[in-house]
Amino acid sequence: MAKLAMTTPLVEMDGDEMTRIIWQMIKDELLLPHIDLKTEYYDLGLEHRNATDDQVTVDSAEATKRLGVAVKCATITPNAARMDEYDLKSMWKSPNGTIRAMLDGTVFRTPITVKGIEPCVRNWVKPITIARHAYGDVYKNAELVVPGPGTVELVYTAADGAETRELVQKFDGPGIAQGMHNLDASIESFARSCFEYALDIKQDIWFATKDTISKKYDHRFKDIFQEVYDAEYAARFEEAGIEYFYTLIDDAVARVMKADGGFIWACKNYDGDVMSDMVSSAFGSLAMMTSVLVSPQGYYEYEAAHGTVQRHYYKHLKGEETSTNSVATIFAWSGALRKRGELDGLDDLVAFADKLERATLDTIEAGEMTGDLALITTLPNPTKLSTRDFILAIAKRLAA
Ligand code: NAD
Repeated sequence: MAKLAMTTPLVEMDGDEMTRIIWQMIKDELLLPHIDLKTEYYDLGLEHRNATDDQVTVDSAEATKRLGVAVKCATITPNAARMDEYDLKSMWKSPNGTIRAMLDGTVFRTPITVKGIEPCVRNWVKPITIARHAYGDVYKNAELVVPGPGTVELVYTAADGAETRELVQKFDGPGIAQGMHNLDASIESFARSCFEYALDIKQDIWFATKDTISKKYDHRFKDIFQEVYDAEYAARFEEAGIEYFYTLIDDAVARVMKADGGFIWACKNYDGDVMSDMVSSAFGSLAMMTSVLVSPQGYYEYEAAHGTVQRHYYKHLKGEETSTNSVATIFAWSGALRKRGELDGLDDLVAFADKLERATLDTIEAGEMTGDLALITTLPNPTKLSTRDFILAIAKRLAA
């Protein structure tokens, strides 16, 4: 049978450890037999990042701006232990951080739901996607331990030297203080990425802050979202039959717990950090979570939400059998191929992405799964498969 053709290459960002092993298996067993796969390959494995002084990460992000769609394998963010392990020239920055800064994007994380892996919250029958603003607030703050009596003020000095002051607190004794910021431009990008993604997947979008208490800071987020929505998206949302809904963060949390899912929840940086872990653990596992970076210009980078699964990799190196879950990495590929197919008008490629996801879910629903899922499934007598055998079981269904 003829293989599916592609017109524009995907930007392929290879990575590290166990996910690098899975990456090759997915290509060999699930993609190459069916697709005339076109990619522009960038090796973001730590050795090659080190050899290129991390230039390869910058090049891969530039390629994403040029070609529009990327698929990324999990990568090591070096720490002190990795400096020795890989004999690094420098403690290179997180590739995800570099790519995110260059594409100015928002990360959307969605649980992959499947029969047999049931969310702890029984009424969550559809996935909840978390959109986390990835700039500013407490992640770029200035903090101060106040040693004793005195005054803490916020001071803004304009370009012409004019000062504006705001009293934070007159301290009678020791305490603590904190200063945070955000940028209108970053909040606007965040809003546009959220509205674009909502239109893309045709789901309602919720946004929440604490604007009743934070009347300037959080209120600015609320206002910018509303301005961008009214000026650029209201008509398109109406046409698509979806809704933008703003409420207070405490009200949002209460409503999320009672909702049945199927919407996007846009969160400020800290809220997104906290809520995405709650949502992923309540839906089952980090290995069942997709992640896509969407830039306001409409560039997409698909990846798994988890890391390189280091512990399994060391077992693999010792020749021991592993049972690593490849679902999120498979869905990174299917997401990227589907988007490429949509942009290039290749209906067959879109259909293949659907089939690949269906074959993956059918395999789990038939009771064949990796160890992490076998531990939590509600299906009777699951079969625990090795890393390779799970991918081969999907390949068999895909070919059928
Ligand atoms: P990890 O996600 O690799 O592992 C965390 C835990 O979840 C481990 O117990 C692991 O066994 C389990 N787990 C994760 N994915 C799994 C899967 N697919 N199948 C089965 N079990 C799975 O995170 P970590 O251990 O904190 O980090 C390992 C490396 O990954 C680090 O070097 C870190 O820098 C990197 N990392 C990369 C990314 C990324 O590229 N997006 C994200 C997080 C961590």
